[in-house]
Amino acid sequence: MPQYTPPLRDMQFVLHEVLGSTERLRELPQHADVTRELTDQVIEEGGKFCAEVLFPLNRSGDEEGCTYAGNGVVTTPKGFKEAWTLFKEGGWPTLTCDPAYGGQGLPATVGIAFQEMLNAANQAWAMYPGLTHGAYNCLMEHGTEAQKALYLPRMVSGEWTGTMCLTEPHCGTDLGMLRSKAEPKADGSFAITGTKIFISSGEHDLADNIVHLVLARLPDAPAGTGASRSSSCPSSSPMPQAHSAHATASPAVASKKRWASMAMPPAR
Ligand SMILES: Cc1cc2nc3c(=O)[nH]c(=O)nc-3n(C[C@H](O)[C@H](O)[C@H](O)COP(=O)(O)OP(=O)(O)OC[C@H]3O[C@@H](n4cnc5c(N)ncnc54)[C@H](O)[C@@H]3O)c2cc1C
Repeated sequence: MPQYTPPLRDMQFVLHEVLGSTERLRELPQHADVTRELTDQVIEEGGKFCAEVLFPLNRSGDEEGCTYAGNGVVTTPKGFKEAWTLFKEGGWPTLTCDPAYGGQGLPATVGIAFQEMLNAANQAWAMYPGLTHGAYNCLMEHGTEAQKALYLPRMVSGEWTGTMCLTEPHCGTDLGMLRSKAEPKADGSFAITGTKIFISSGEHDLADNIVHLVLARLPDAPAGTGASRSSSCPSSSPMPQAHSAHATASPAVASKKRWASMAMPPAR
């Protein structure tokens, strides 16, 4: 039976012997308390999660795939949802995210090592956290404070996932040709029209909500990629009112947690 063996020693060699990453990271105020032991522990536990939980799911991924029941209902292959729950409970989505939104604030260097193992062990499953992290980065960089307070804690915890809706039937690489429109409305929101294709993790049963970041053109936008806008849209299920209220009512709580050990699946 095939197995995935995480290349731990290779990663440690590159991180420690080649890059001297711990010493260099500790020069940065936000990573002053990073240690070699912490990095190694994350990589080792991350490797176990990838080898023991994700790798075996390639079989159901290949044999079953996702199934579409109509009305926006997509069921992921056997084991995908349980793996997401373990991923969430183990604190893995929080790894490199901002502590102001519930993240552990670990260096991107450590996150990339983990991501490499996710991709190697199960590329299909890795798309779900991968796109969520892309949407997280976009909101971190460009979101308003209210949007960040509403979306980020839930995306960091893994309660909600995210997508990046960029590609259209006539344009993939050259997004300057995109035709989707974002019309401003009186209440400050945007009416989005257009067609997107190839949207990874666009619908699934892993999380309670999917936050779609949709790239669209403002009415007065010049040609090309300038002045396009990324708007966040809830998934096919409507946004619960409680969540909207929470956006303005609840300040983000800084997390002191730096690392959560991995939750393992029950013995079969
Ligand atoms: C598995 C998968 C997941 C995806 N997930 C997402 C997603 O989550 N969100 C999303 O928005 N999109 C997603 N996409 C779409 C993806 O981003 C596009 O397929 C990609 O950008 C390429 O666009 P295209 O398919 O239209 O190819 P084209 O843009 O038509 O490119 C075709 C070929 O022409 C080459 N080419 C294009 N322009 C130039 C140029 N100016 N000069 C030289 N060569 C050029 C390209 O390199 C390529 O070889 C996904 C695609 C796949 C396959």
